[in-house]
Amino acid sequence: MRERIRWKKTGGLLWAGLLAVLLLAGCANNGPAGANQGSGEGEDEGQDGRLKVVATYSIVYDIVKQVGGDHVDVISLAPVGSNPHEFDPRPADVTNTADADAIFYNGMNLEAGNSWFEKLLETAGKDGEDAPVYLISEGVEVQYLTEAGNEGESDPHAWLDLRNGVIYAQNAQAALTEIDPDNSEDYAANAESYIAELEQLHDEAVERFQEIPESQRFLVTSEGAFKYFSEAYGIEAGYIWEINSESEGTPAQVQAIVDEIKSRDVKGLFVETSVDPRSMESVSRDSGVPIVGEVFTDSLGKPGETGDTYLDMMRTNIETIIEGLK
Ligand SMILES: [Zn+2]
Repeated sequence: MRERIRWKKTGGLLWAGLLAVLLLAGCANNGPAGANQGSGEGEDEGQDGRLKVVATYSIVYDIVKQVGGDHVDVISLAPVGSNPHEFDPRPADVTNTADADAIFYNGMNLEAGNSWFEKLLETAGKDGEDAPVYLISEGVEVQYLTEAGNEGESDPHAWLDLRNGVIYAQNAQAALTEIDPDNSEDYAANAESYIAELEQLHDEAVERFQEIPESQRFLVTSEGAFKYFSEAYGIEAGYIWEINSESEGTPAQVQAIVDEIKSRDVKGLFVETSVDPRSMESVSRDSGVPIVGEVFTDSLGKPGETGDTYLDMMRTNIETIIEGLK
């Protein structure tokens, strides 16, 4: 397990690293390195003995937090509500990554939009063979992008199938156990109860999507983030653009999905919390089909609000989609 889920160095990474040193070194030196940045204080572990963990975005942040419980302090690099495909790390992110006992990323092209994660690892000195960098999606069955220019690339949105959320939780458990074997029993217990909840929601979702008449099972969102979801829950998915961080919402893309919508029995369209709604608003105007709900794809909801955990975001999505399509 140790070697398999670690960061894999590539030729591209070396180039990215050189760039990163040029682009980010100045940044990193601006702030008081190591001082008062998030929870990144003290020695290898926080003063209370907690592991310092960094996750690339809020969904992985929450899954690791659920499994790590009281033994971990987790920080999300891309903040809640932002687009993790492209992110500009701040000086504090470099410091936190440099100080981290473990770093978790989704991989499968998620953090690849502007190579921000590769650059960050290099700048933070966490790009070595032995760096504690974990691919949390290790072992999921990858689905691939299909549109010209991206075909054959991995689609990153595996977490939208709760069965993959289970794999993420198992990988989080394995990684935390490797780093902190003294607390392995707690990680195992946390993972077990958490996975049971994820599996229960998955089973409920499979059943509940049957409530939607088959002809209406077509889910339209801005980004094509629902491939994995689609397969898991028997809902066909349509989109304006296939993946964030390419050209988004061009007139041709809008026209294509409008034509598709007009040829089907579509009751409602959806916007994502982490995507600008304007393209979907023009699809709605041009197709005459209303936007009926907001779904979570690449980010949790704000703390204290709906969808602020992975489990709640999935539960909310399931409700929103069923209500909107019926
Ligand atoms: Zn996305």
